Amino acid sequence: MSNIENKPLLDKIQDVSFRRGIVFPTADIYGGLAGVFDYGPIGTLMRQKLINFWRDYFVKSEGHYEIEGSLILPPKVFEASGHLAKFCDPLVQCKECKSMFRADKIIEDKIEQNADGLAPKELDEIIAKNKLTCPSCNGAFMNAREFNLMLKTQVGSVEGNVAYLRPETAQNIFINFKRIAHSMRAKLPFGIAQVGKVYRNEISPRQFIIRVREFEQMEVEAFFAEEQLDNPPHFEELADELLPLLTREMQAKGIEKGKDVTVAEAVEKKIIPNAAMGYYLAKEKILFEEVGINPELIRFRHMLPKETPHYSGGNFDLEIKLSIGWTEIVGNAFRQQHDLISHEKHSGTKMAVQHTNGNVIPYVIEPSIGVGRTLYCILESCYRETKDRDWTWFQFPPTISPYDVHVYPLMKKDGLEEKAQEVFEELKGEGFEAVFDTSGKIGKRYARADEIGTPYCVTIDYESLKDETVTIRDRDTMKQIRVELIDLNDVLVLLLSGEYAFDEIEDIISEQQK
Ligand code: AMP
Repeated sequence: MSNIENKPLLDKIQDVSFRRGIVFPTADIYGGLAGVFDYGPIGTLMRQKLINFWRDYFVKSEGHYEIEGSLILPPKVFEASGHLAKFCDPLVQCKECKSMFRADKIIEDKIEQNADGLAPKELDEIIAKNKLTCPSCNGAFMNAREFNLMLKTQVGSVEGNVAYLRPETAQNIFINFKRIAHSMRAKLPFGIAQVGKVYRNEISPRQFIIRVREFEQMEVEAFFAEEQLDNPPHFEELADELLPLLTREMQAKGIEKGKDVTVAEAVEKKIIPNAAMGYYLAKEKILFEEVGINPELIRFRHMLPKETPHYSGGNFDLEIKLSIGWTEIVGNAFRQQHDLISHEKHSGTKMAVQHTNGNVIPYVIEPSIGVGRTLYCILESCYRETKDRDWTWFQFPPTISPYDVHVYPLMKKDGLEEKAQEVFEELKGEGFEAVFDTSGKIGKRYARADEIGTPYCVTIDYESLKDETVTIRDRDTMKQIRVELIDLNDVLVLLLSGEYAFDEIEDIISEQQK
């Protein structure tokens, strides 16, 4: 462990991810491709768990409709959405070595000044005033210019038949809005959700899976009639949740940490645009806590005017304090009627839907969660180097751990392997995500389970053959208890529910048996 201890946390997480089958660099054997990554078997299980959790909590429990739109879309969609004209980052190129960089990031990195949303001319002035030069060769920069981030491709055999890979999942929802509303006989308010890949030709992909060119979003577009925005369904259930809000005034004073305000108060004092947005912010905070993020590290930052599109009624990013600084993980936008009106204008398709007083074009709240960034936050939040073991491990909550349980025979002989195999099959049959591992000493197997964050290990030993009991080892405390095989299923269910400490479980079982 000593040779990795002095690295920045992001590098450690990246190394561990490559080694333990979480995330791999794409086309690694051919030298890779900047800004794209593949999920390995462990990362894929975690990704599925995250998406399923979001699906249950953000889509199904809300009665939203989920769709799966195409990744490739015609230019007209992006003329209407504004992406062709405006989805750009400022680019500067070195006069000497021709390397390209994001102008605002160069400024942020070199003089720690937030340059988000500044025009190329303003960026040029800051670069000149501070004599900023190319990080690769120290050469001078050419003037900054806007660079469109969409990935362009060609469809069919006809030259010039251009299409774009979608840069966000939202547009599929808006262009299908009328059909979905009709086919599902949807009544306002209702939501349409989508999870899927998006593509952005980032100028400088960096920081492992934080800024990449291909990533996934889990998005909801929640549609409301205007008068419903302050009276969304189920609001009372979350009205008392605390939101760590960072207002524009707090940012101007240099304050970093959000101040806890209840959703109800934030709405009443108009700190956030409306109750509908407050409701989704509260849901996000709960989701992030459930997947293992320390709530102390979360804030909702009111985006500054220069970071907010002109049509927005207020954007609040959920940001998490990572080792690399506060990072946007969720974009929350009050898009008002902008997208539907714009698609109506460009396509000629009427977007209004029936509501109590005739036809209305609904207002939109959009919580857009990045899957990769969320997974990175979980990896960083749950990564452990502790004195009690000489391997690094992950303290994933069961909601996100790739596996629930590992099953081991103490030895491969004397019928132990067969018995353990039986237990394993039974647990799989009951729906547990289980792993069967027979190789190496038992201590090594425990370490392997810790390394991928499996919360419990079940071992079948000689006593098991005599009295039908097994041991359960707890990842966090490394303690073990012995339980009757017949109770194993129930005990694991109780443990994975997260409601009881490992120490309490023996008492609870004996209590239940009385
Ligand atoms: P946006 O539409 O820019 O507000 O993005 C919504 C979410 O997508 C962000 O909050 C991030 O979690 C994620 N995201 C945006 N850009 C990237 C990127 N280049 N790499 C990885 N995730 C991203």
